[in-house]
Formats: sequence, C-alpha cells, structure tokens
Amino acid sequence: MTVAECIRVPALSDNYIWMLHNPSSKELAVIDPGDIDAVMAVLEHRGLEPTEIINTHHHADHIAGNTELMKRYGIPLTAPASDESRISDPITTPVSHGDHITIAGYNAKVIATPGHTMGHVIFYLEDCFGDHGLAIVGDTLFSLGCGRVFEGTMEDMWHSMLAVRDLPDTTMLACGHEYSASNARYVESLNWGRDAADARCAEIHRLRAEDKPTLPTLLGTEKAANPFLNCDQPDLARVFGLDESDPVAVFTALRQGKDNF
Ligand SMILES: [Zn+2]
Repeated sequence: MTVAECIRVPALSDNYIWMLHNPSSKELAVIDPGDIDAVMAVLEHRGLEPTEIINTHHHADHIAGNTELMKRYGIPLTAPASDESRISDPITTPVSHGDHITIAGYNAKVIATPGHTMGHVIFYLEDCFGDHGLAIVGDTLFSLGCGRVFEGTMEDMWHSMLAVRDLPDTTMLACGHEYSASNARYVESLNWGRDAADARCAEIHRLRAEDKPTLPTLLGTEKAANPFLNCDQPDLARVFGLDESDPVAVFTALRQGKDNF
C-alpha cells in the first residue's frame, strides 16, 4: 500500500484544513473545508481533484466549503450522523462511534469525542503512513490544548481526552487550529514542572517565531506534554490543589483556567 500524503492548508485566521492524498489511487479527501478559496488554491496549484469531503463537526469554520466542493466536483460527504440536522449539505455517509470506513482508500475508524460539540467525531487511520497512523482530531485536541467545551460536559470532554490518549504514541495528530502558541503560554503559567511540557513550549515558540506551523504533532509528545491528557496524574492535580483520583475536577479547573486566560 502506498503511504499517504497529508497536506496542510492554512485557512481563515488560524484554521488548518487537511487533505489526505493517496498517490496510487489518486483519491483525495478534503477534511473540514471551512474556506473554499484556500482549498481551491491548493487544488489548482497541485493539479489535484478532490474525491470526498470529511467533516469532524458542524461548526461553520469546518464545513463552509462543503456546498461549493460538492457542486463543483459531485463528491460525497462523510460527517457525523448526529450532526445531520446541523449540516445543511446532504451527508452521503453518516458515521457514528465504532464505524469502520475508508478515507482516500485508507482504513479509518470513527471515534466519538463529545465535548466541543455533542456530535464531534475523530477519524483514526491506523496504517496510512505504513508503520504509523494519523488521527484527524478536528477541534477535540490541539497541541498543548483541547477544544472549548461548548456542548458537552467537562466529564464528556475528559473521556474524549482518554479516547485520544488510547491511540498509539506514534500517531500523528491533524488538529483543526494553530492555537499552539497561546496554549504554550497558558501551560507555562501553570508552573507544572513537567520537562516534556517545557520542551514542547520552547519548540512551539521557536517554530512560531519563524512563522512555521507546529502541526501535525505526535501523540507521544502530547501524552507527555499536554496537560489536558494528564488530568489523572498527581503532578498536574497538585498544580490545582486537587486529587488525581478526581480527574474530572482537575480537567474542569484546567479548562476553565484556559477559558479565562
Ligand atoms: Zn469547532
């Protein structure tokens, strides 16, 4: 099987639209096309034609280009079944937790991650890069951060963190926004004392100072450095004067701290 090519498309103020390209079959999935102009510029520059659209959740900055792409190319849309009433385009393949589908010809598992929205799903492609995989995580997880909890409960979002954390360390994460610098400033303000977090913060500041992207990121790095994946760990619980046996309380304090940062 040919290894996938993952194309990062900066869009709007801080979004990333991702494209997954299968060089042998020529299939091309466009993930969360919130900005049709950004998508078209890359398609024209690369001489590529999309074959499908994938949505992680219903927010406009992830779906606004669906309609135009479907009209121009007549391509199918895969999106969360529970978002059918909130995405105005007809969903060709409505998906739910545990479904197995293909994206650009690569096997993908659908994992529900409620919290940012109730219907949010992520897509895990175990072997699209050969010996390691890719998780398309939308607005569930960012480097050193996680999505705002708009629709679900803090407990929902913590369980979504655990669902991501269950994936292998070698998984690359395609996140929906370049929020890393702001997340790094918040993590630094915690005085967590975790070496891996300090190292990732420094790396992010260096990359952003050079105007370079910080994504995709490696899940192994995030497991060690991202506090939102560490709410059941004593060193993080201590930051908030809480007990690690109540990770939802730690997650709530951590998330609310970022909301007000
Ligand atoms: Zn969103």
